[in-house]
Formats: sequence, C-alpha cells, structure tokens
Amino acid sequence: MIKGSCLCGKVKFEISGEPSSLSYCHCSRCRKAAGVFSAVLIGKADDLRVTAGQDQIAKFPPGPEWKLERCFCKECGTSLGDMATGDMYVIAASALDDDPGIRPTVHIHTGSKPDWYQIDDDLKKFEGDYISEK
Ligand SMILES: [Zn+2]
Ligand SMILES: [Zn+2]
Repeated sequence: MIKGSCLCGKVKFEISGEPSSLSYCHCSRCRKAAGVFSAVLIGKADDLRVTAGQDQIAKFPPGPEWKLERCFCKECGTSLGDMATGDMYVIAASALDDDPGIRPTVHIHTGSKPDWYQIDDDLKKFEGDYISEK
C-alpha cells in the first residue's frame, strides 16, 4: 500500500497494486501548479482510494487543450494531480508519503518547460505526451 496526503493532512489517499509509470511532467499546468515540473504517478483507477477529505478536494477544470481536471486541497493548496480519471489515476508524486517503488523513466511535455530550467539527466525526453508520441 502506498499512502499519500496533502500538506494540512485533511486529504489522505492510498494506492494498492503496482503503479504503471512515474514521469517528470514539464507542462505549463504542472509548472504553475506544482513548481518547475511535477513527478506524476500513473496507475489503474481502481487501485486509488481517497481515505479522508474527499470533500476537501477542489477541481480545476481541464479547459480546451487538456483532458484532465487538476485536483488540489482547498485548505492548503497541495497539488494532488488529476486523481482518478476514467480508468486510470494520475497522482502528483510529491503528495506521496511512501516510496512508490518505481523510479521516473521519462520527461514529458519538455516543449513547455521554461528556458531557464535545464534537464541534466539521461532519461528519455518527449516534447509532448509520450503516450501520443509512441
Ligand atoms: Zn490540505
Ligand atoms: Zn503536467
């Protein structure tokens, strides 16, 4: 079981099963909501359970160019990712309290990263979403 929570502790969640991927996302939404980029954990929606504070989760609508809502704690503003959406979950790994076991393998949406931030590792880089570039 992988546990996570927001900064104030009102929102708590648990992930059972194995996550399918961990990626660094450099899209403009992650940049503005979470810092310069965010580490995004993806897995099966059925594996995610919100154990506290479901009513504390605010949802920022996706807008025309994004498919997913962006969730955050109403109280402390902690970025939670997109939570469960369709058949998968997309969680901001920064909200995890436990080690998810897997390590980041790719950088995605590098086309949106700011010029002042330089990626200094050898992981694969995708200008957009690697799912659509595969
Ligand atoms: Zn909170
Ligand atoms: Zn992003």
